[in-house]
Amino acid sequence: MTEDKIFILTSKYCWQYYKIGHPEAPFRVKDTYKYLSERQKKLNIEFVFIDKEIDEEILLLTHSKELIEKVKTENFYEPDTPNLKNIFFYAKISANIVLESLKLAIENKKTFALTRPPGHHATKNNLGGFCYFNNIACAINWYLKNYKHKKVAILDIDVHHGNGTQDIFLNNEKIIFISLHQANIYPATGLKSENNCINFPLLTNTTDFEYLQTLNKAIEKIIEFKPDLLAVSAGFDTFKEDTLAGLMLTEECYYKTAKTIKQLNLATFYVLEGGYSKKLPYLIEKFLEGLK
Ligand SMILES: [Zn+2]
Repeated sequence: MTEDKIFILTSKYCWQYYKIGHPEAPFRVKDTYKYLSERQKKLNIEFVFIDKEIDEEILLLTHSKELIEKVKTENFYEPDTPNLKNIFFYAKISANIVLESLKLAIENKKTFALTRPPGHHATKNNLGGFCYFNNIACAINWYLKNYKHKKVAILDIDVHHGNGTQDIFLNNEKIIFISLHQANIYPATGLKSENNCINFPLLTNTTDFEYLQTLNKAIEKIIEFKPDLLAVSAGFDTFKEDTLAGLMLTEECYYKTAKTIKQLNLATFYVLEGGYSKKLPYLIEKFLEGLK
């Protein structure tokens, strides 16, 4: 039986790095933390602070040595994914927040990883799209190594296709990856399904009604797969006021999305990916209300 309390895993290190003018900015975690901490009782949440980095050996279950070295030595150039001082440290903190969330989820606790940098665009060999390491994939590969006969479903509801997660898990029979995303924007992948990676590309201006209908199709796929664990790449850049994309979801849709996923009754960990509007704290609150 899952406890009612929701554990929000986060770290003050998530506030500490930035590039001026970049949308993937500290306010996303900092303002959300402050906003939620004033509503702890109402939301029945408890914060868990993580200040330890993930082990490099765990990163190596997902990423190539070359990528890890590049980030470690700050020897890369990618226009969207800035090369910042100590970014290796911050990226490892973020990956560990997600790993610790998974560990609580398999003890039947509800968890939400309030973290940055995000992860779902990082492939085995490449960083990109504001992502250095694929947080959710690192946690899942740790789980699959330690729990050999288990199966995991990944539901990616960020507005951008989770190309990194698909790259890492394509043809892995222990995984089903399902992504709902806007079709004609970055990273321009995910236009069709491939083996264990099921993609639902959506048109610009998609509204709550069409979105939730598509979500129900995704839920059916998860039920058919019978996973032991569900990982959710929770992006909030599907919001109508988000300037990085063009879907038209309202605040209420996050409540309904969370309620729908919760009804699966699976051990689940939720991980923040994108979401760049100033209303992000409020959207996350709506999502958490749906999980109650
Ligand atoms: Zn996104």
